[in-house]
Amino acid sequence: MEDIRFTPGLLPPEGEALRAEVRAFIAENLKGYPGVERAKSWAGSDPGFSRKMGARGWIGMTWPKACGGHERSALERYVVLEEMLAAGAPVSAHWVADRQSGPLLLRFGTEEQRRKYIPAITRGESYFCIGMSEPNSGSDLASIRTRGERTADGWRINGQKIWTSKAHTAHYMIALVRTRPQDPKDRHAGLSQFLVDMKATKGVTVRPIRNMAGEAMFNEVFFEDAEVPEDALVGTEGGGWGQVTTELAFERSGPERYLSSYQLLFELIRELGADAGPAAAAGVGRLAAHLSTLRQMSISIATMLETGEAPNLAAAIVKELGVAYEQDMPNRVHDIVGTSPRVAGGAFEQVMAYMTMAARSFSLRGGTREIMRGIIARGLGLR
Ligand SMILES: Cc1cc2nc3c(=O)[nH]c(=O)nc-3n(C[C@H](O)[C@H](O)[C@H](O)COP(=O)(O)OP(=O)(O)OC[C@H]3O[C@@H](n4cnc5c(N)ncnc54)[C@H](O)[C@@H]3O)c2cc1C
Repeated sequence: MEDIRFTPGLLPPEGEALRAEVRAFIAENLKGYPGVERAKSWAGSDPGFSRKMGARGWIGMTWPKACGGHERSALERYVVLEEMLAAGAPVSAHWVADRQSGPLLLRFGTEEQRRKYIPAITRGESYFCIGMSEPNSGSDLASIRTRGERTADGWRINGQKIWTSKAHTAHYMIALVRTRPQDPKDRHAGLSQFLVDMKATKGVTVRPIRNMAGEAMFNEVFFEDAEVPEDALVGTEGGGWGQVTTELAFERSGPERYLSSYQLLFELIRELGADAGPAAAAGVGRLAAHLSTLRQMSISIATMLETGEAPNLAAAIVKELGVAYEQDMPNRVHDIVGTSPRVAGGAFEQVMAYMTMAARSFSLRGGTREIMRGIIARGLGLR
């Protein structure tokens, strides 16, 4: 059974100076940015904004200076993330590269790959997407069928990915591909990760999928004899499973796991005004208290990660609880005000309508609630 601890953590004093800097940047750069756009949270995109963040040193903040990073602490990065998310800043263009692909390349990539890809990520100019899920292979990722075969000077990829967020704007995908037939004795063996240049690789087709809110933010991606060079392999051939599980751990327990519907809380407070009445005030108080507890738990994980610990079980718990909170927000807000979401309504109703449609997906992305609960149960020694 794994140890679960939430050691109290504090953001460092230098984080507060940084917070003021980030707030001033947001006030200047997002003036007049509508609430319904802010409600998109880390799904909203603006490459110009990403480049400005890069220029301020807020992408790849913890990475080595030799690769264009800034060698700041994970807790300082936390401050930047929470301010950006609380403001609903359009961070999605660089989001995956900053959170996952960059750390993956730093950990498993070659020196040449780091030098080639990392600096442009830190400048907010190079965007990545994650090619893991396939039709019928989401939770059971080891069953993917997209295959990579050796050629004289690289690899040929055939197959299909699905739900690939931002594949239409990303410069690169890190694709999980089967490079050896599945071994029934070890389902996780024989998988590899490849860097696919989304703009230059022939045989790659991206087809958008529209979600309930009418957005085309994720896609189907088809590989038909798509050839990638030898140096597109990330890490070890056949060792992709270990790399992917490390990569998925980068995306748990951050502030994006409880702040996705923050804009609705913000709009609710504005809608209620100063004379909310005791019942509504108590409802808002409960939402704020819940948020504050999740924040403390998430900061605790960030603090443990900073000191070199690997609190995987605690991180899975924060993701599970955080997602439940942010997904339930539209229902709880409805209970407080009784207003129904209306796409064509005022600012508050619009944000509520968007959130009601978007929140369905919160418990699917990055691993479903059932899968997270399975991980937690295993960690607790219950299965
Ligand atoms: C907004 C959004 C963005 C996404 N972005 C990406 C992306 O960029 N890249 C990418 O690769 N993928 C992405 N995904 C895909 C996501 O990772 C998968 O949807 C998710 O892992 C679930 O897989 P699935 O859709 O195949 O559902 P399935 O795995 O078929 O699951 C269907 C249902 O069965 C349940 N279930 C499955 N197995 C078990 C089990 N063993 N025990 C209990 N219950 C189980 C699940 O919890 C779920 O409720 C995204 C998804 C969403 C919604």
